[in-house]
Amino acid sequence: MSKSTAGPPPLLRAEIDLKALRHNLDQARRFADGARIMAAVKANAYGHGVNIIVPALREAGVEGFGVASAREGAELRELGVKEPILVFGELVREHLPAYHEFELDATVGSPESVELAHSATAQLRVHVKVDTGMHRLGLVPEDAARGVDRLRESPHASLAGIWTHLATSDEPDLRFARRQIEIFDAFRTGAGLTEIDDHVANSGALIQLREASDGRAWVRPGGLLYGLPTTEIIAAKSSMKPVLRLVSRVVRVQQVAAGDSVSYGRSWRAEVPTVIATIAAGYGDGFPRALSNRGHVAIGGRQYPIAGRVCMDMLMVNLGRPDGPGRSVRPGDEVVLTGHDGPSAFEQARAANLLSYELSTGLTERVQRYAIDVRD
Ligand SMILES: *Cc1c(COP(=O)(O)O)cnc(C)c1O
Repeated sequence: MSKSTAGPPPLLRAEIDLKALRHNLDQARRFADGARIMAAVKANAYGHGVNIIVPALREAGVEGFGVASAREGAELRELGVKEPILVFGELVREHLPAYHEFELDATVGSPESVELAHSATAQLRVHVKVDTGMHRLGLVPEDAARGVDRLRESPHASLAGIWTHLATSDEPDLRFARRQIEIFDAFRTGAGLTEIDDHVANSGALIQLREASDGRAWVRPGGLLYGLPTTEIIAAKSSMKPVLRLVSRVVRVQQVAAGDSVSYGRSWRAEVPTVIATIAAGYGDGFPRALSNRGHVAIGGRQYPIAGRVCMDMLMVNLGRPDGPGRSVRPGDEVVLTGHDGPSAFEQARAANLLSYELSTGLTERVQRYAIDVRD
């Protein structure tokens, strides 16, 4: 978020639709079937702004939050969060004091962090992460069982949860994800941990795999809450609504002749006389340069292709022939870069082989986020 309040209102803004957020949370609750919601709000709530998203989710009754680091956890406490906050990232020594100070729940996902948690000199709630095939963080089941025993001997660490993370939950082929869940449950039963809070499901698993949420203590949706599907099948199996709407303005309209080029590197050329609109948005705002000659924007409800390279502060779009439907576009007109009435983040991302999450998390501090709340 930009901290600056000085100066005129920005041409480019991010509208954060709290009604869509509540709609998506309701949907997550239906899939979760009684499991508590630990909302993933890492990376500034996937770029939407924790200062907007977190109070809205708390008001809507979300029971806990997940963040990437102790720094992010501290930021949530400073926003007044009272609910449990789990740091998904690995516990590291330098951050241990912050876990105590801000009452953060720690993830231990390696033998080293088990020892670190064991040696805590003040109360520390720990979730043991089991590696069931992702091979990022986590203890393989044998080590996890040993880790649990070790933590039980610790004067200050207490076992608050066990969890795992799935590698393919948003794909059509769910065999690997099912296998991961089997490994997790075999560990859980074998180690006698069926009474301990457990969690498995990210958005894909919540939508596609009942066994990832059924009877579990928590689920950990991120993308579903923001209305950001990651794959075709997840888009088809849910009715999530985009929370982010990235809106800017046309700042100039001009006609170019056949053979003329547009933008740096001359990667786009007019085959016929063409009307070009210049839009106030660029990669300096986080709008991906990878969308050069690939993405679309919507003006007046109609989509137009990006022409040439996306610049730092501006991009150009092809409005078509001078007598075409784009002829009524004028400087000052509103432009939807992604979200309601424009291309979805999923469509936009797919055009450039990006993940929909990259579009929102990439938004820079220059982009002001505004909450929009239409209540029924
Ligand atoms: C980001 C994250 C989630 C949420 O993932 P989505 O696919 O966006 O729902 C859940 N768990 C962990 C550990 C994460 O890092």
